[in-house]
Amino acid sequence: MIVTERAVESAAERQKAHVPAISLRGLAKRYGRHEALQPTDLDIGDGEFFCLLGPSGSGKTTTLNLIGGFLAPSEGTIEIRGQRVDRLPAHRRPVNTVFQSYALFPHMTVRENVAFGLRMARVPRGESATRVAEALALVGLEGLADRFPAQLSGGQQQRVAVARALVNRPAVLLLDEPLGALDLKLRKRLQVELAQIHREIGTTFVYVTHDQEEAMSMADRIAVLDEGRVEQVGTPEQIYHRPTSRFVADFIGESNFLEVALDVAAGAATLADGTTVPFAGGRNGPAVLMIRPESVHVAAASQGPPEALRGRVAQTSNLGSHTRVAVSIPASPTPFTSVVYGRDRAAVGLEPDTDVAVWWEPDDAVALPDTREKEEGA
Ligand code: ADP
Ligand code: MG
Repeated sequence: MIVTERAVESAAERQKAHVPAISLRGLAKRYGRHEALQPTDLDIGDGEFFCLLGPSGSGKTTTLNLIGGFLAPSEGTIEIRGQRVDRLPAHRRPVNTVFQSYALFPHMTVRENVAFGLRMARVPRGESATRVAEALALVGLEGLADRFPAQLSGGQQQRVAVARALVNRPAVLLLDEPLGALDLKLRKRLQVELAQIHREIGTTFVYVTHDQEEAMSMADRIAVLDEGRVEQVGTPEQIYHRPTSRFVADFIGESNFLEVALDVAAGAATLADGTTVPFAGGRNGPAVLMIRPESVHVAAASQGPPEALRGRVAQTSNLGSHTRVAVSIPASPTPFTSVVYGRDRAAVGLEPDTDVAVWWEPDDAVALPDTREKEEGA
């Protein structure tokens, strides 16, 4: 184990004390008229585990390859630790990349694969041997140094790829869907291992994934991309509980949406069928209220508070750890979903067609910009 002083400081402390690991300013990439990355400003803190998250084609790999130097920007600048790098070739940038396809040299042993970069950099043999041993220990492959890639499992090969990328101690490690080729169980295990490695060495990680659970479980902060645009940057907590757009709310986790008109003075939101629910904040006018299923209470009609909406149970599914109750309410074209953990007796065991009350704490609802017109026009 390599435990450095930096590893024991929190990412937040490091961020305060240092210039950002990466600064993008107006960074854009066009292919003809197609904007793979729209002009983007982004700061990634020193030592952060930063995720680029978005659906396929949203510009994640493009962003990573611009930082890594495998693509030239159409416009904008890239700084790493305060140094302009956007005109430097990839091998002169203080970064290393781990790709989804491990790209190991098949005719070299694990040890030789990991040592390759050090040999290119003419690191003396003794030091190289120490560093290779450290890197292999970091990824838990001490015992397999003399094997060839074909003699390793997918997970082991990916660990070699990580060791190889970390052995020259880059300022930044770029990872492009590194676990994408692995089955779910192994992926979960390697997620935990990668997060541990990150904590141990304190290197800045920029991690691309389309898997929201992966991003939520690993990242200090996440940038959510859609169609070449950064929709939101925030901690997993902020992205989940305070999304700023319907796209983000929809992409991360599950959400209930209600089209409403907000009346700020009255502290209320009026639904499509004319009923109102309490809501503080936002701006007067049309909006979309988002409420997460686990924030939604549901109970027999007689038991809800006065401000509860009235509805009817469409379906109840017992999923072991939790129960999912789908409720038809007049104001929503799709059933409203409540998720109840444990054995909340008021909700568990509700039969279909039961009349129920549905409510939530006003603070648990988020007002999002109404994008109906845009969607209809598109
Ligand atoms: P992601 O990694 O999020 O799946 P990419 O960054 O690979 O997305 O791609 C973003 C967009 O740019 C996509 O629409 C893709 O088709 C387009 N694109 C990527 N590379 C090229 C290329 N060499 N020529 C033209 N279009 C490209
Ligand atoms: Mg990609």
